[in-house]
Amino acid sequence: MLLWEEGLKVLDPYVPGEQPKETDVIKLNTNENPYPPSPRVEAILKDYDITRFRKYPDPDMTVIRDALSKYHGVDASHIFVGVGSDDVLAMSFMTFFQNRKAPILFADITYSFYKVWASVFDIPYENAKLNDDFILEKEDYLKENGGIVIANPNAPTGVYTDVRDLCFIVENNPASLVIIDEAYIDFGGESMLSFTQQYDNLLVVRTFSKSRAQAGSRIGYAIGGNAIIDRLYAVRNSFNSYTMDCLTQELAVASVEDDAYFRGRVDEIKQTREEAKKRLGELGFTYKDSQANFIFAKHDRIPAKELFENLRARKIYVRYFDQPRIDNYLRITVGTKEEMETLFKALEEMTA
Ligand SMILES: *Cc1c(COP(=O)(O)O)cnc(C)c1O
Repeated sequence: MLLWEEGLKVLDPYVPGEQPKETDVIKLNTNENPYPPSPRVEAILKDYDITRFRKYPDPDMTVIRDALSKYHGVDASHIFVGVGSDDVLAMSFMTFFQNRKAPILFADITYSFYKVWASVFDIPYENAKLNDDFILEKEDYLKENGGIVIANPNAPTGVYTDVRDLCFIVENNPASLVIIDEAYIDFGGESMLSFTQQYDNLLVVRTFSKSRAQAGSRIGYAIGGNAIIDRLYAVRNSFNSYTMDCLTQELAVASVEDDAYFRGRVDEIKQTREEAKKRLGELGFTYKDSQANFIFAKHDRIPAKELFENLRARKIYVRYFDQPRIDNYLRITVGTKEEMETLFKALEEMTA
């Protein structure tokens, strides 16, 4: 250890899914969208006037907030925009979960970044254990806490929690901010967005990375009451006022304004997902009834790790988590129909 390292916090950072350098792989490991973004996004890029880069971008992100305000039917003052929902979530942890008396609560099996943010911001946390079917038990959220975060549909299981259960949790925790991470909600289930008008302790977080095929653009946002959003901007502006560049702000608007394209692609992915569930069943897999753009599945005979490695050798990347309770599952992102066909051919051989 170097002298200056003494006393520094040792971090255990988030490990994202592999981004292989080769391009001839089938990438079903990070829940990206297999289709390109809207052609309108491409049009903005082609015509962009680069002299605009001379100036700082609009720190208020007015164009995105106006587009989202129109799209969701909420006031622009109720919308916070960040550089991906990871940025929005990190800011929210910092703003609402630091320096609370009680530990924050989240599921034992959920988005693994939550515990990383808790640790980097020194936020104590407790895990609420999902039941054996990976279903959230709402009564687990009735104990004293410093805040709550729930992914719905959940990752990496794809399991959806009914909004009535989430409302129960929000209503019974008036002294805590409840964050609902809706990274996958466009692929299934009912959003909590409409309830942000009703509850002053609810924040709903969304991303362009999955359903809008713009993981590389880094766009996320949150919707909540004025008091929540004002506090988020106050913290963001004490940190970095220009988080999003001027070009990306326009790329986001182009996507939101092309709703027909967006819905078409999302429907295609949902349809491929339902077909994939059937095929997995025929091959001896059991799976959770995913409402997301991925399926969490285990084989009745072959260990997940073996399947994962075997698929990888065939240049098909899926996600494997070497963690208690889920180490016999594969998380398979829904790709194009052709990609899924290649996956199923490989799985047929491997499970024969
Ligand atoms: C992918 C994902 C995110 C992060 O998305 P970005 O907007 O790309 O930062 C957040 N939460 C969950 C549950 C996710 O799966």
